[in-house]
Amino acid sequence: MRYISTRGGVDGISFCDAVLMGLASDGGLLVPAQIPSLRDELAGLQGCTYQEIAYRVMAPFADDLPADDLRSLIQRSYGAFADERIAPLVAVSDQLHIMELFHGPTLAFKDVALQFLGNLFEYMLAKNDATLNLLGATSGDTGSAAIAGVRGKERINIFVMFPEGRTSALQERQMTTVLDDNVHSLAIEGSFDDCQAILKSAFADHDFKEQYHLGAVNSVNWARVLAQTVYYFSAWVQLGCPDRFEVAVPTGNFGNIFAGYIAREMGLPIEHLILATNANDILHRFFTTGQYQRGQVHHSLSPAMDIQIASNFERYLYFMFDRQADKVRGFMQSFADKGVAAVQFNTVNVDGRFKSGSVSDKETRQCIKDFYEQEGYVADPHTAVGIAVARQVRDPTLPLVCLATAHPAKFDEALGALGDGIDIRHEALEALRTSPSARQPWQRMRKRSKLSLQPTTD
Ligand SMILES: *Cc1c(COP(=O)(O)O)cnc(C)c1O
Repeated sequence: MRYISTRGGVDGISFCDAVLMGLASDGGLLVPAQIPSLRDELAGLQGCTYQEIAYRVMAPFADDLPADDLRSLIQRSYGAFADERIAPLVAVSDQLHIMELFHGPTLAFKDVALQFLGNLFEYMLAKNDATLNLLGATSGDTGSAAIAGVRGKERINIFVMFPEGRTSALQERQMTTVLDDNVHSLAIEGSFDDCQAILKSAFADHDFKEQYHLGAVNSVNWARVLAQTVYYFSAWVQLGCPDRFEVAVPTGNFGNIFAGYIAREMGLPIEHLILATNANDILHRFFTTGQYQRGQVHHSLSPAMDIQIASNFERYLYFMFDRQADKVRGFMQSFADKGVAAVQFNTVNVDGRFKSGSVSDKETRQCIKDFYEQEGYVADPHTAVGIAVARQVRDPTLPLVCLATAHPAKFDEALGALGDGIDIRHEALEALRTSPSARQPWQRMRKRSKLSLQPTTD
């Protein structure tokens, strides 16, 4: 499979090179030159394990990896999941199902992709006899999932900057309690934007970047999208292979839902992808008006979706413009210059199979409460955004899958609405409260002594 850039400046690179490149060198995003069809093989997925489905979905995209190597990468990546089905589908009512994507080590759906990416990096570095220093900035969720993906791995160090005091205490502990020697969580005095500014200036210094083999952990890596495509197929199999179904996706950077778009282009009968946003509704506005316009970032109950620029959206634009890179460049240039870009829906290839909606924090809280009272299921606030929008726009005659992107214990402040006596604690998070953290003085000392080779005595 050949990979090309959405802006036309990169062509003909392999899957492994696309993964190592991350962001395309012309500033665009890497996409496969063709989307392989799995139509004739869909029926054969029945009865397959998640890992087997993953192999069959990913193999055509990663044809420069030997089959046995891809299989073993998949096996290792999903070995750390607490549920052997990896992404179990829970039937809540007749036509409404929740697909739980939070059984990985950090209890959010980013593990599905980052566990795979960590193993893939390790594998490729060993092949090339190379090393990698990953540098990232996080406002919460991505940092811990990236750390969990590479902790203890040979040839990889990871440095994650987070704004001191501005992530939740739990999110901070999910990073700072990982004591592997290759993991470095850096508390920055400042905001998330300050962390990103440091990141940008490090990557802008090309000599520094080369000398230290700097790599990025960001949501635009093609391997992340690919790994996420798999659970759409698994959802369909677990539903019993219906003729058509709908999927609701709590959306921020457009990575998760774009994976659904790829699954549909491969032939999976997804009738509608339901794009659900919180008050940060730039994508909902695009899908209803054709206008892509930047606004202020609103802080919401679903912080992992508090974004104004959806980094994976450019991939969709590329297909919407029928693969004309010049049109993508024009659109993105207009957006960069003026903060707004627009399309006329009748002039582009929009297939009408996206539905969208946006809900407020108040509606999200109400949805968590109603869903618990009516269905007995506790949804985290991100998941609840998806359910709330789906209830507004779904086709009730079709089976619906709502993607659950985080375990409710991870974002428990929104659960006050449920009243007392509801225990959604998760043992992995409880253990964090008492785990030693790199922030404790003795621990800092230990790390410092390792780095400076100056043993401290106290
Ligand atoms: C990252 C994240 C999202 C948003 O996913 P995108 O791929 O950025 O659209 C939703 N929910 C949770 C819990 C997340 O961590």
